[in-house]
Amino acid sequence: MCWASRSTTSASTSAGSTSTPSSSARCPLPPRTVEFRMQPERPYMWMPVGRTRHRIEIRLHEHEDATEMERPEVAWEWLSQTWGLGPDDVEIIRQVVYPFLTRIARSWRVGRTFLAGDAAHTMPPYTGKGACAAMRDAKNLAWKLDLVLRGLADDELLDTYQQEREAHNNQLLRVSIELCDVVNLTDPRAAHARDLAMRGRPPAPDIFPGPKTGFLHHDAGGRVTGVLGDASPQGVIRRGGVTGRFDDVAGGGGFSVVAAFDPAAVLCGEQLAHLARIGVTIGSLDPASPHHIEDADGTYREFFTANGVSAFVARPDFLLYGLARDEDDLRELIGEILQRLKAPTPVQDPGRASFAHRKPRFPLDESGVFEERAATR
Ligand SMILES: Cc1cc2nc3c(=O)[nH]c(=O)nc-3n(C[C@H](O)[C@H](O)[C@H](O)COP(=O)(O)OP(=O)(O)OC[C@H]3O[C@@H](n4cnc5c(N)ncnc54)[C@H](O)[C@@H]3O)c2cc1C
Repeated sequence: MCWASRSTTSASTSAGSTSTPSSSARCPLPPRTVEFRMQPERPYMWMPVGRTRHRIEIRLHEHEDATEMERPEVAWEWLSQTWGLGPDDVEIIRQVVYPFLTRIARSWRVGRTFLAGDAAHTMPPYTGKGACAAMRDAKNLAWKLDLVLRGLADDELLDTYQQEREAHNNQLLRVSIELCDVVNLTDPRAAHARDLAMRGRPPAPDIFPGPKTGFLHHDAGGRVTGVLGDASPQGVIRRGGVTGRFDDVAGGGGFSVVAAFDPAAVLCGEQLAHLARIGVTIGSLDPASPHHIEDADGTYREFFTANGVSAFVARPDFLLYGLARDEDDLRELIGEILQRLKAPTPVQDPGRASFAHRKPRFPLDESGVFEERAATR
C-alpha cells in the first residue's frame, strides 16, 4: 500500500506509502518503530502498521504533479533507491496523493444538528490524533444527548460539547501544524538550525491536557485546575472473584464515583436515587462497603495520595469531573452535579423528546462555515 499527501496550506506537498512484504522477503524491512527521516531534500515518515504492513508518508514538492506521483513506478523507484526494496520483497497496497487540510468548524451545533470528527475539524496526521479526536467528540456528545433526551438534564448541557471539545482540538491542531512544519522543512539551513535546536532537548511536556472548561468542577475562582478534565484513573480491580480493568469489572456506563470510604453511606437517599436514574457506578475501597472493589494494582490509593483526596467523580466519557477530600466534599460535589444538570422530569419515551430550536451561537458568515487554522508557510 502506498499513499501520499499534499499540503494546501504550505508550498510543500507530502506523499506516503505503506507496503506489505511478501512472505519471501529478500531483506528485512527497515525501521520497526515509527521513524521520521527529516533530510531536507525529501523528508518522510515510516510507520509499521501491525506485523506485515508499513505506512510511509513522503513529502512531495510543489512542482511535482499529483497524477505523476501516484504512478506505481514512482513508488517503486523510491522504495528501491531508499531501502533497496522491489516487487519481490513487498506489495504496494495503496498509493495516493492527499492534501493536509487544517480546518475547524465555527459552529458545531445548529438546533438538533451536531458536527463531530472530521466534519468538525481536520488536522495534519502528525500527532495521529484525528480518529482519536473524533472518538472523543462522540463520547463527549453521546452521554449529554442521552441525559437530555431522557429528560434528565437541561438542553444547555449540550452547549458544553463544543466548548470542551473545541478547546481540546485547538490544542491538537496547533501541535499537529507545528510538528508538520518541523518535519517537512526543505530549506537546508532551516533544517540544520532545527537539528541543532533539537539536540539535547529535554522531553516535551504533556501537550494533550484535557479540557479546562465546560461541565467540570470549577474552584471558587471559577477555574478548572489540576487533573480535572483529564482522563480518570483506570486501575485493575477485583470484585466478586473477577479481576480486570475498572470499567470492565465494575463499570456500567454513566458517572463513576470511587472513594476510600463508602460513598453510598454518605449521600442522601434523594441524591442516590437521582444518581441511579442518571447512571452511576460506585466503587469503594472500604471492604465493609457493599460497593467494595479491591484496588488490585494500587492505582486508586496512589491517585488519592498523589492528589491529597479520598474520592473522585468521573463523567461517563471518563473525564475527571471533581475530587473530594472527604465525605462532606463528596456530598457537595454530587449536589453540584445534580444541580448543574438541572435534571427535570424524566421523559418516558426519549424518541419524543425535543430540543429547543436555537440559533447558532456563531452565525454562519458568507465565507462559509469553516475557519482555516493552518500555518501559512
Ligand atoms: C493519511 C491519513 C493518516 C491518518 N492517520 C491517523 C492516525 O494515525 N491516527 C488517527 O487518530 N487519525 C489518523 N487520521 C485521521 C482519521 O482517519 C480521521 O480523523 C478519522 O477517520 C475521522 O473519523 P470520522 O468518523 O469523523 O470521519 P470518517 O472516518 O471520514 O467517516 C465518515 C464516514 O461517513 C461516510 N459518509 C460520508 N457521507 C455520507 C453520507 N452522505 N451518508 C452516509 N455516510 C456518509 C463516509 O463514507 C465515512 O465512512 C489519518 C488520516 C489520513 C488521511
